[in-house]
Amino acid sequence: MIFNIQRFSTHDGDGIRTIIFYKGCPLRCQWCSNPESQSTEPGIMYDPKICKRFGDCIKADPGAVKMNRHGVQINRSAIVHPEKFRDICLSRALTIVGEHKSVDELLLEIEKDIPFYHRSNGGVTLSGGEPLSQGADLVILLRELKKRNIDVSVETTLYVNWLKVERCLGLIGTYLVDLKHTNREKFRLYTQGNIQLVLDNLKKLADSQENIIIRIPVIPEFNHSEHEMKRIIDFAASLNHIREIHFIPYHALGIEKYAMLGMDYIFGPKKPVEHSELSGYAQYAQSKGFNSRIGG
Ligand code: SF4
Repeated sequence: MIFNIQRFSTHDGDGIRTIIFYKGCPLRCQWCSNPESQSTEPGIMYDPKICKRFGDCIKADPGAVKMNRHGVQINRSAIVHPEKFRDICLSRALTIVGEHKSVDELLLEIEKDIPFYHRSNGGVTLSGGEPLSQGADLVILLRELKKRNIDVSVETTLYVNWLKVERCLGLIGTYLVDLKHTNREKFRLYTQGNIQLVLDNLKKLADSQENIIIRIPVIPEFNHSEHEMKRIIDFAASLNHIREIHFIPYHALGIEKYAMLGMDYIFGPKKPVEHSELSGYAQYAQSKGFNSRIGG
């Protein structure tokens, strides 16, 4: 399931890229700026700021949607078929996040920009969510892209069974791997995941001689300290064939989406991390032989 396709992106890989955002992520990072990506199911997003109170959503499901003086109130747990809300809201205040796209539909979208990929050394970036957690269609898509000589990057947490990674070896040009921490307790507390799976997969991927760029999201209270960051960089330095680390400063841009999805932002308000706070980390990475960059 896809929740967005973004054309003409110049982030998340080289050149001009089409970014495919997959739904479904096995982690629940407290700071996640794409909360709509976490569930594998379609989500209902409601933005009261642009609601015109036409009430078409109430007609679609009067048992689950009510109107009061604050706007539309949605009882998401009472909605069995979110699809009935798709495209019913003229003001686009209520939208359905997530739709199935076949491999052919994705290729049709991707192929529109082939001349731009070739001229700019660009291509396709698979993002999410966790793209590697997708089913067999992912590998079919990767094989089709390889046939067309279209470069693929993937943004991944590697928090998946190794078999899901192994099936993609040789089909992905660059793995942009999130390495968030090395401490088991801290990782579980803030993401509900087990860091050992990430560390083991990253080691296997590095041993497979794939092209890997490490991306470290720098998150206040979670890993934004000299001690924790040195451990993360030291782990990366212990692996084969990895020469590049990017430090991604925390921002709070996704917070509004939590309320729009009926979710709680349990991370709480934090100050965004400034680029200038990361120069010491970048220098340490360089001292360990990495090319380092601040920002994506
Ligand atoms: S891994 Fe990424 S998409 Fe998944 S919960 Fe964490 S921040 Fe969100």
